[in-house]
Amino acid sequence: MKAVVWTGHNNFEVQEVPVPKFGADQVLVEVHAASICTTDFHYPEFGCIPPIVPGHEVSGTLAEIGKNVHDLHIGQRVTLDPVQRCGRCACCAGGYGHLCLNARHLGDTDIPGGWGQWVAIDAKNVYPLPDSVGFTAAALTEPAAVCLESFLRADFQKGQTALILGDGTFGFIHAMIGRILGAGKILVAGHYPERLSRIEAKTGALTCNTHREELSDFLRKQNLPAGIDLAIECTGATAAPNLGLRSLRPRGTLIIFSLVWEPEILDLGLLSMKELNVLGSCRSLNCFGPCLDWMGQGLLNLSELVDIEMPLEQVNEAMDLLRTDKKNRFKAVLLPQA
Ligand SMILES: [Zn+2]
Ligand SMILES: [Zn+2]
Repeated sequence: MKAVVWTGHNNFEVQEVPVPKFGADQVLVEVHAASICTTDFHYPEFGCIPPIVPGHEVSGTLAEIGKNVHDLHIGQRVTLDPVQRCGRCACCAGGYGHLCLNARHLGDTDIPGGWGQWVAIDAKNVYPLPDSVGFTAAALTEPAAVCLESFLRADFQKGQTALILGDGTFGFIHAMIGRILGAGKILVAGHYPERLSRIEAKTGALTCNTHREELSDFLRKQNLPAGIDLAIECTGATAAPNLGLRSLRPRGTLIIFSLVWEPEILDLGLLSMKELNVLGSCRSLNCFGPCLDWMGQGLLNLSELVDIEMPLEQVNEAMDLLRTDKKNRFKAVLLPQA
């Protein structure tokens, strides 16, 4: 079959590779759409070992079904939770299997991902699509699920205020989900005017362009004297976690969502005096179901983020566009059957 292979450094090539084998508890999926995630640009930093078929944001139809799988049928339209769990480790037994100690993550070393014509995955990781959701939007269910996880981690309540640091894909989706969850106010900070105005138009968020206005000045105007209930860090920038921390009300929560490669030291005095919570959020637990329900009801329209759709052969073009035309491009989706 045809697949994109990461061969090291920043090199992605379309190659002929074997169709993945699937086990008795697995399925084989014909991939119709697979999106490009920011993490796909960081294989070298994650210490991954080439060759790898990337792709963990995937939708398609079931082509083959393992002999122990009885609740799915061939031809079903589906999306995939890329985190395959062992079911036996302390995390799986403790009810947080998304952090499985033996996780086999699609698109990681040794586990071929969805940037190919077919992908094999545990049947437990398969989620049927509502009829009204197309493959392109469905490929973005995984990024939506990981954004919902941030709010669940923080025990976010209707009417609360959320500050989202970052105007990228994850900033946009967090704002969409904050709206669905009934946030009293959603504030988004970033520095691309084009991105901020799209986020504002689609989510009703109030936005701060930090190249034009200090975040602290912007927050002062929001009439929230105690501070923000929840700040979500989705920039990966050095100074962002402290900006989030300083925005919080006493006992407010900062979610560290992005990987901050070179963080500055957190303001621990503030953390202690205001009894702040700092929590990490990674992957998702029980979030695919609610996201798919919202997508089916037309509440969560992830196609708003799709600015590029290309066949596998144009993977490098798609990645270049995401890198060089950042302000106008949120998400690129590869179409392996095109
Ligand atoms: Zn991702
Ligand atoms: Zn496990």
